[in-house]
Amino acid sequence: MILPFFPIILVDVVGSILMIVLSFCCLGYVRKLRVQDQDNLVWTYLFWFCLGLACFAVSRSAGHILKTALIFSGHQEVWGWVRPFSGAVNTVMFIVVGAVTLFFERIWNIYQMILKDRKALQTAHNELLFLNENLEQMVQDRTRALAISEFKHRQIFEASKDMILIAAKDGLILHLNPSGYDLLGLEEKELKQQNFQDFLVREQPWSDLVAQLDKNGFVSSQEYTLRTAEGGHKRVLISASPAMGEAEGEDGILLLVKDIERRRLMEEQMAQADKLASIGELSSGVAHEINNPLGVILGYAQLLLRNESQESPLYHDLKVIEKQTKNCKTVVEDLLSFARTSKAYKEEVDIHKTIREVLDFLQPHFKSDEIEISTHFDDGLPRVLLDEKKIKQVLMNLVMNARHAMDDSGRIRVSTRLDRTRKMAVIEIADTGHGIEKQHLPRIFDPFFTTKPTGKGTGLGLSVSYGIIQNHEGRILVDSEPGQGSRFTIELPVKAED
Ligand code: ADP
Repeated sequence: MILPFFPIILVDVVGSILMIVLSFCCLGYVRKLRVQDQDNLVWTYLFWFCLGLACFAVSRSAGHILKTALIFSGHQEVWGWVRPFSGAVNTVMFIVVGAVTLFFERIWNIYQMILKDRKALQTAHNELLFLNENLEQMVQDRTRALAISEFKHRQIFEASKDMILIAAKDGLILHLNPSGYDLLGLEEKELKQQNFQDFLVREQPWSDLVAQLDKNGFVSSQEYTLRTAEGGHKRVLISASPAMGEAEGEDGILLLVKDIERRRLMEEQMAQADKLASIGELSSGVAHEINNPLGVILGYAQLLLRNESQESPLYHDLKVIEKQTKNCKTVVEDLLSFARTSKAYKEEVDIHKTIREVLDFLQPHFKSDEIEISTHFDDGLPRVLLDEKKIKQVLMNLVMNARHAMDDSGRIRVSTRLDRTRKMAVIEIADTGHGIEKQHLPRIFDPFFTTKPTGKGTGLGLSVSYGIIQNHEGRILVDSEPGQGSRFTIELPVKAED
């Protein structure tokens, strides 16, 4: 019964022995691999797998061999006792191998995470190593870059033609660029404890600017009037934004201030010139219309006068008509010269001689009063091409106005200078009189504007002077403070060859 199964039994026994040998070979090989690379989880897993497999092979093969030996030796009943134990050991070994395999997936994930962390750690370690080795060089490079950046910003701060100012929230000036010192009229040593609030006029307080900044986060090109340290006023455009951590760690305010005083003055002058040009056009039209009838009235009055004896009452009436008509004609002529329609007869004139003649003529009128007239002439002034009669009229107007602006005492100073860059002969007439009210300043060149009592002033003197100077391609400017006196400046062009 046993013999027909002999080859199968032989194969079973040999196979069992081979199973044990092979499983131990695998175990030995994996153990070697694990010793070489202890951290490798695959080898660790394979080691435990092979160990389980070896145990399984031993238990299974031992069972089969024992079974065969017991059958051949006729102790089949012994095998009947051993069999359940052999089966149990096989089962346990199988479960161990299965459990190790199932558990491996979780361990594998953890292992991957550990590997990732290890890699990151390695990278960080390498970076640290690099930093350690190159830190000095990197600090040097960074310092150089910072120095270049600092230089660039300082240059912008120093070279800006506009004022750059950093102030604390309460207006205390912390930093000010050179243009700022010029604009505010401050010396560098005077900056300590200066507050920008003090430079703003009362109508535009600092609190308004800060409130706007808090509300909008910026202030953009707002027009303000600044009081300079010398007491003057300047119109400026202010832009403001917060300056982080500038005032002892707290936020300050960065202000960009653009001086627009010159531009505004020019705009005002142009508006004034425009206004006077249109008034001139109007008055010249009216003057022309009046001039002819006046000429006729005067002619007839003079014709009638010829036939009347001086004793007749009609003669006196006609004389009054003649005198008043002549007065009217003077006014009309003044209007025409304001409108620049009358012709100028220009010749090369020594301005100093002209001024002297005007002053000599006027001096007797001032004799009884304590009026001091002084002259300061620039000897370098060349002869200038002008209509002397008309310029004399201008000078006479200006000196008489200066006289009228004073009570019984005061000083009138007439000076000349040559503006070489603009090629202009400049005549200045300054007085210590009552000055001109701010609201009157834009109107003094208007025809018929006068502040003098009726009968004393016609309001034509300055408008006529303005027309004459315009006719010479020059300019007439005024500078006056109420109570401080006035200064009229005449600029007349000098020819290039002069
Ligand atoms: P008028 O002298 O007839 O009033 P003007 O045209 O010469 O006319 O002057 C106009 C106004 O300008 C004067 O009424 C005066 O208010 C003012 N003014 C001119 N020159 C001076 C001066 N030197 N000082 C003060 N006010 C002046």
